[in-house]
Amino acid sequence: MTEDDDIPLEAGARPVLRLKPKAGRRFFAGAPWVYQDELVLDRRTRKIPAGAVAELQDAERKPLGLVAVNLESGISGRLLDRDPGAEIDGAWLRTRIARALALRERLFDTPFYRLIHAETDGLPGVIVDRFGDACVMQPNAAWADQRAEEIAQALREVTGVSTVMLNAGSRARGLEGLTGETRLISGALEGPVEVPMNGAVYLADLLGGQKTGLYFDQRPNHAFVARLCRGARVLDVFSHVGGFALAALAGGADSALAIDGSEPALALASEGARRSGFEGRFSVRRADAFDALTELGEAGERFDVVICDPPAFAPSKSALQNGLRAYARVARLAARVTGPGGYLTLCSCSHAADPSAFRAACVRGIEQAGRQAQLLRAGEAGPDHPEHPGLAETSYLKALTYRLDG
Ligand code: SAH
Repeated sequence: MTEDDDIPLEAGARPVLRLKPKAGRRFFAGAPWVYQDELVLDRRTRKIPAGAVAELQDAERKPLGLVAVNLESGISGRLLDRDPGAEIDGAWLRTRIARALALRERLFDTPFYRLIHAETDGLPGVIVDRFGDACVMQPNAAWADQRAEEIAQALREVTGVSTVMLNAGSRARGLEGLTGETRLISGALEGPVEVPMNGAVYLADLLGGQKTGLYFDQRPNHAFVARLCRGARVLDVFSHVGGFALAALAGGADSALAIDGSEPALALASEGARRSGFEGRFSVRRADAFDALTELGEAGERFDVVICDPPAFAPSKSALQNGLRAYARVARLAARVTGPGGYLTLCSCSHAADPSAFRAACVRGIEQAGRQAQLLRAGEAGPDHPEHPGLAETSYLKALTYRLDG
């Protein structure tokens, strides 16, 4: 008997993934993942198709639960259920979704939020943002991509929404070897959706927009910054559809200028400002953020409140050093255009840049601008983006608000 034959192909009707002896350190510490190099990769295991549900066993064949398999990905097993006898069917999906929904309904008065935050809500790789009667789903793992219709059906049943979009635009899909296009699974969508948030109306383009259309994760940070904005002249850099700027205007800012490289995002920001009744106080500039900040600084422009919320400059560990340099550069340029006694908020959505490394980069940049700062608040993603205690990756957003010297 070879070692290959020794491993049962199936436990009941299921394939088996087995950990090597002493492997699974993160899994046993609470992470819902097993990595490729932790697994016994015999001939049978290699044949398990991506997206299949397998029983995970330890090296002594003790069942540990059910995992979704993808041997094309470094994360080769994602924990679905600690009960090896569970059925991953419509009822199982509905239970997970209902549990996620109960939290959001407790948190929010209106149905606009991140409904499913992947592993943390027990649906590995699945992101769902809810916009009233529409859900935008990113099935960023093979098991979920294959079951997209079934998940959409469960979403409709549990939440009552009619429209479900599949968004195939995330970077994570590439790492999982997933292809396919963004498409409407059910219902209809006509134009951008109005999202009431932070006292303003935002416009989210669920069809062609970035991410799923809106950055719900920044909601509490928008709200905090808005409290600093009464009577202020505000600069929102990397604004997207005006997340910080519109909240600032709702909070009583005199004026807000939004800068972004994306024309469609700025058009939505302007329309959001119009529908919020902020016309005349809001303006946009399409530009590269670094160029625009440099020009504003050289022109002697100063703002009372400045926010910089760039895309992930350090999307992976290998990009970390360059990413931190870019964050420091943003901090330096932004500190220059922040007036005496003004408030500066610097954000990062890179998990690889951990909070202390990001803080150090921000302080370096502020000092290079010749400024002193007090840190007022270190914000994170809102509670509709809960963290998984065993998965540091689920804590990614940092929003530091400083008051600069007078
Ligand atoms: N602050 C927003 C989210 C910002 S997302 C909110 O709270 O809702 C990051 C934004 O940066 C995107 O809209 C993207 O178009 C923009 N962006 C990326 N690189 C840029 C660059 N070099 N110059 C200007 N904008 C850029």
